[in-house]
Amino acid sequence: MVEQVDLDTALDVNQDMGSCHQSFETGCHNQTNMVFTYKQSTITHQKVTPMHQTSTESVEDMAALVDLHEGSIMHNLFQRYQQDKIYVKSLKSLASWLFKVPGQRLAAVGSTGYKMLLLTYIGSIVASVNPYKSIPGLYDCAAMERYSKHHMGEIPPHIFAVANECYRCLWKRHDNQCILISGESGAGKTESTKLILKFLSAMSQHSLELSCREKTSCVEQAILESSPIMEAFGNAKTVYNNNSSRFGKFIQLNICQKGNIQGGRIIDYAFYLSVPENYHYLNQSGCIADKTISDKDSFKEVITAMEVMQFSKEEVREVLRLLAGILHLGNVEFITAGGAQVSFKTALGRSAELLGLDSTQLTEALTQRSMILRGEEILTPLSIQQAIDSRDSMAMALYSQCFAWVIKKINSRIRSKEDFKSIGILDIFGFENFEVNRFEQFNINYANEKLQEYFNKHIFSLEQLEYSREGLIWEDIDWTDNGECLDLIEKKLGLLALINEESHFPQATDSTLLEKLNIQHAVQYDVRGILEKNRDTFRDDLLNLLRESSLDFIYDLFEHVSSRNNQDTLKCGSKHRKPTVSLQFKESLHSLMATLSSSNPFFVRCIKPNVQKSSRDKVDGMREDIHFQKARQMPYPSWYWLSRMNGYPRFSMKSLNGHGAVRAVVFLTIVMNSSDIGVGCLDTGSMPDQFDQTVVLNQLRYSGMLETVRIRRAGFPVRRPFQDFYKRYKVLMRNLTLPEDLHEKCAVLLRLYDNTSTEWQLGKNKVFLRESLEHKLEKQREVEV
Ligand code: ADP
Ligand code: MG
Repeated sequence: MVEQVDLDTALDVNQDMGSCHQSFETGCHNQTNMVFTYKQSTITHQKVTPMHQTSTESVEDMAALVDLHEGSIMHNLFQRYQQDKIYVKSLKSLASWLFKVPGQRLAAVGSTGYKMLLLTYIGSIVASVNPYKSIPGLYDCAAMERYSKHHMGEIPPHIFAVANECYRCLWKRHDNQCILISGESGAGKTESTKLILKFLSAMSQHSLELSCREKTSCVEQAILESSPIMEAFGNAKTVYNNNSSRFGKFIQLNICQKGNIQGGRIIDYAFYLSVPENYHYLNQSGCIADKTISDKDSFKEVITAMEVMQFSKEEVREVLRLLAGILHLGNVEFITAGGAQVSFKTALGRSAELLGLDSTQLTEALTQRSMILRGEEILTPLSIQQAIDSRDSMAMALYSQCFAWVIKKINSRIRSKEDFKSIGILDIFGFENFEVNRFEQFNINYANEKLQEYFNKHIFSLEQLEYSREGLIWEDIDWTDNGECLDLIEKKLGLLALINEESHFPQATDSTLLEKLNIQHAVQYDVRGILEKNRDTFRDDLLNLLRESSLDFIYDLFEHVSSRNNQDTLKCGSKHRKPTVSLQFKESLHSLMATLSSSNPFFVRCIKPNVQKSSRDKVDGMREDIHFQKARQMPYPSWYWLSRMNGYPRFSMKSLNGHGAVRAVVFLTIVMNSSDIGVGCLDTGSMPDQFDQTVVLNQLRYSGMLETVRIRRAGFPVRRPFQDFYKRYKVLMRNLTLPEDLHEKCAVLLRLYDNTSTEWQLGKNKVFLRESLEHKLEKQREVEV
């Protein structure tokens, strides 16, 4: 059954394998299933190119790939992932634009010499692929110790290497550092954050051994213990991540000149934390119990953490009591009898008791609305839906005030006077795209676009700007600019402006908003509830009720919540109106960007290999079956790229030579030349539920990974001011006849090493080098000195 098909068709065949994937997952991956899904295709040799050795063997630094395209980057990640090497470096050196003050670099480095100088250039991007399992030894004390003793690049890429480099940069560069961790939900951002904190706390101890014996000092431990508490309050299980952060956080560690963490600060971006579906209706999410999570242990962990954070026993009890009160509140149901009536009195009674409220007053507040109009109280009965909404908004208010209190408490525990310099770690929710995307997703995606902008600016714009400023001959590298997307959100008449404007009209509804948005733009978000959420109006009568709580704890939570009359605040044009949720969010994002812009950035790109949260181990047994089936005698012993006519080769394949992992499900007959025909198979990258090429490719695309590697390779990552360069390599010029001009002196030496001038260029102030040439110069220098 050999048919001649176009490669695209062959790939489509691959896409059609859905039913097959299903059966893998349910475990009935019998051989019949496999055989049924085979499809033989023939493609011609123009589309097949052999892989370079760097691709067949995989590399640590992606800039070292000789075949450089999406396929090779993905294949490299995949190969390393298969060996449990989840970290890959995609860029070693960044440019001198990192130095805000010209000359500061030299001052900072002083006479300590070249090695230091070289290192100051290193800012890194590390990519990691979530293994969804623990890899033995990857993060233990020995690993921390090892990474603390090596410079970046000396040993394989690792999150600890980033943390270590970041820490060292405080002294090398004398500026604040930040680590930006990005990636989709479930890609591993929060885990990375925790690992960085763990490493930095250990460094802060100066003695890694000590810290491993759990003798961490108070501040470090407090910072570490903040994670479980924040997660307990701020995370939820979603389809993407069992422990998805529903808030973004920026952790700032203040470090003193001696290198110890003095304290820190956590800024949360919890603006719309309390999504009822995710929280107090715990049973609505349909996933209360999860095999992988032990509720009992987690609970213990949180309570211990709260104790470490010096929450008093009393406070812990109060928080738990409040949470229980919220849960019972969530169980309050309504029936209609004229207006809404509470039908389940027990829940209401319990809730009122736990929250210290009068149950009659609570009933009234939930079923009718009270407004003061010209000094008179007016009561309006609520419909069932309105009653449900008031119940929810009350629960939300309680929850978010409590969360804010917890963060405040943590911050007061770890506060210090701003010391020498700081390291900021940003862990913010990744892009989200659910079946239905609402206001929350809009905000989350907006934040991610802002971060992408920052990344683009640092990696692409500024880098290329430096080249043009220095007058280098340089072909600009295309990258995906998200400026238009941000304009759509932020500019005049953009989405935010329209939403905010509409939020200020009391009469506006979701449909009037939709109409407005549709006139201006076509958007793919569900508008339902946007206005309500954006206004974040908490009814005054509900607020007043909570302030009447007999519990001080609850009273205190609401003491400073601004009370206001809805009529006034919604009046158009009022100067004193409360800022909308999205406006506050926008402002906090901009302030975050300002902080980041004054810090030296490191980037960690987390990639998730599949959407099923499965690890490689889970499917190992299955792979054996396939091996067995496919290990037949085949003629081509090497790997090939199956290229597309116009674009980059995308998929890799290996001929069936009986050894090596053949994971493919689609057979291809390759006509290499008329007499030379081989059968290969399309390598889907792996079994579908572990390293899903489509899922990974998407992430690589929007994260600009390919462009990043390309700019790195095409660029001249090493750059030295002429004077500096001359001083360093004077020894190599001893026997040369040198011109007067400094600029020319450098050129003479460089020409000696590379006459074609492909490995170097002279800018207006600096020498630009590729790393390879720098290595040659350095080697020679070692000989001469
Ligand atoms: P994100 O914050 O990006 O949404 P998380 O950091 O919460 O994602 O990671 C989701 C899950 O993936 C974690 O709960 C953990 O099970 C797993 N995971 C993430 N990173 C790692 C890692 N480096 N090693 C092992 N498992 C990991
Ligand atoms: Mg997270």
